[in-house]
Amino acid sequence: MQALLHRALDLLLPQRCVGCGRLGENLCPACVGQFAVLPSLHCPLCAHAVPKPFLLCRGCKITHPKLRGIVTIGAYAGTLRRAIHEFKYRNRTSLAPELGGLLSHALVEAGIPPCAAIVPVPLHPKREAARGYNQAALLARYVSQGLHAPLVRDGVSRVVDTPPQVGLSRAQRLRNVAGAFAAREGAFSRGGVLLIDDVATTGATLVTCARELAQAGGAPWIWGAVLARGG
Ligand SMILES: [Zn+2]
Ligand SMILES: [Zn+2]
Repeated sequence: MQALLHRALDLLLPQRCVGCGRLGENLCPACVGQFAVLPSLHCPLCAHAVPKPFLLCRGCKITHPKLRGIVTIGAYAGTLRRAIHEFKYRNRTSLAPELGGLLSHALVEAGIPPCAAIVPVPLHPKREAARGYNQAALLARYVSQGLHAPLVRDGVSRVVDTPPQVGLSRAQRLRNVAGAFAAREGAFSRGGVLLIDDVATTGATLVTCARELAQAGGAPWIWGAVLARGG
């Protein structure tokens, strides 16, 4: 009910920039400009140096052979952090086109190969019902439009309602989500998959989903994409 009310207000009230409060749009160009830090040359999973932005390092590639890398817009800080917070926890779903568009742009810049499917990280149905939406699925819709690649909304499902990852170590996070996801059997053998989530902290959710997409789903490779790293 509260989610519905928030969304109704979203439609009625004039939009203000999440960063500077300027009237007229959700995110003004000046604030978006501040996201544009140089892409990091560190492995998104372990922070070892890598030759190209967003790629997994050699050690992580051995552990996660099908996951190629994780693309991000920027660090989880400042206006990007505030925008994600509004989008994820305060029902400001009107940010989805902007944030999805920025993520599409980052993916094009990163030069990831054409993928056969775009799959959002799912919420457990109980949690999605409570929030009223799955933020990753909203992003995935706009990334699918931006990259002209098919959206497979239910490519991965959440079969266990795990406790939130906040405050857990990397090892605890991996244990927490082990067995929590299931990919559609054999559904992805025709090509690579782009897996979408809002934020990656240790990457535990993405590596677990990627493993499912490769093993059960048959995906030959997986790229991850999240709005921000950290959190
Ligand atoms: Zn602004
Ligand atoms: Zn690494």
